[in-house]
Amino acid sequence: MSFAAGIMDEDQDIYRKVAMYQEETPRGIMCRICPNECVLKEGETSKCNNRRVHNSKLYTMAFGNPCSANIDPIEKKPLYHFLPGSRAFSIATAGCNLVCLNCQNWTISQTSPDKTRNYDLMPDKVVSEAIKNQCRSIAYTYSEPMTFYEYTLESATLARKAGVRNIVKSNGYINQEPLKKLCSVVDAANIDLKSFNETTYLKLTGGKLQPVLDSLKIYKDMGVWLEITNLVIPGWTDNINEIGRMCKWLSDNGFRDTPLHFSRFYPTHKLQQLPPTPVEVLRNAVKAATSEGIRYAYTGNVPGNDISDTKCASCGTVLVKRLGFTITANSVSKGKCSNCGNVVPGVWS
Ligand code: SF4
Repeated sequence: MSFAAGIMDEDQDIYRKVAMYQEETPRGIMCRICPNECVLKEGETSKCNNRRVHNSKLYTMAFGNPCSANIDPIEKKPLYHFLPGSRAFSIATAGCNLVCLNCQNWTISQTSPDKTRNYDLMPDKVVSEAIKNQCRSIAYTYSEPMTFYEYTLESATLARKAGVRNIVKSNGYINQEPLKKLCSVVDAANIDLKSFNETTYLKLTGGKLQPVLDSLKIYKDMGVWLEITNLVIPGWTDNINEIGRMCKWLSDNGFRDTPLHFSRFYPTHKLQQLPPTPVEVLRNAVKAATSEGIRYAYTGNVPGNDISDTKCASCGTVLVKRLGFTITANSVSKGKCSNCGNVVPGVWS
């Protein structure tokens, strides 16, 4: 389902709003939103392509001007244990703080809001359009919502007041202080854990792994419903021992009930030469997760969905059946297994 809204004039002011978390330093103005901590002089643009210093202040160019706006099934994020079968009003501006070789959305993530065609959607309109389109949630997604932080925060604050839930689909690459503030208005998150090896993480994304692990803990500790995606890329992130180590870390750090999605890679962007991930590799990843005590491991991005049904972790009854992004059966009753009464972690209503 796509969403149609007014397109902005091309001569719109690009300095949309004074940026949060900026700090003057002797070398320039520092942005403290993400671990890149860009220090910028007059006229310079940030690594994420959507912040610029203008008249000695840091501005965000990404506020009220998304280049993508769609109505998505929540399963597409993916979120499997959060309002299954519901719709999410999904928005993104241009820009990202990482440079992943495998980015599926590089045409919007690796550019700037002054180079994309943008909708005219200020935060109040985001909320009213979500309600008008019977979306139970707003998803800040596709590119990297932590780089359109102010837009996400203000829209999410208004949405919360209006009874609409907020979801972020993010790389988790954000500093702790802005993340904690955002968590106070976010209901669910799907965070990409792109690799569990510092060297691979840096080569693949241009970022560091540890801040992402810290973010996972903050989301969980602050009561945001969390699911994790691990994209399995042949030759990069498909080492089963490393996947096992990642799952052990998750298990040891309190994420046993956090759904873990092993997603299939398809050749894209700067990794065109690689084959798609063999489905068998994804199944082995699910097995590794299960043997480390992860209770809800899924495969994703696989035709026919393969391992995508939710089973009761206690009695094994299939509770939610999925076909693609469609729910074909759901017998979770008041958050419990309809057969044995075991609690099924998640947000079900
Ligand atoms: S959010 Fe953007 S401007 Fe801020 S530190 Fe990160 S990459 Fe730099």
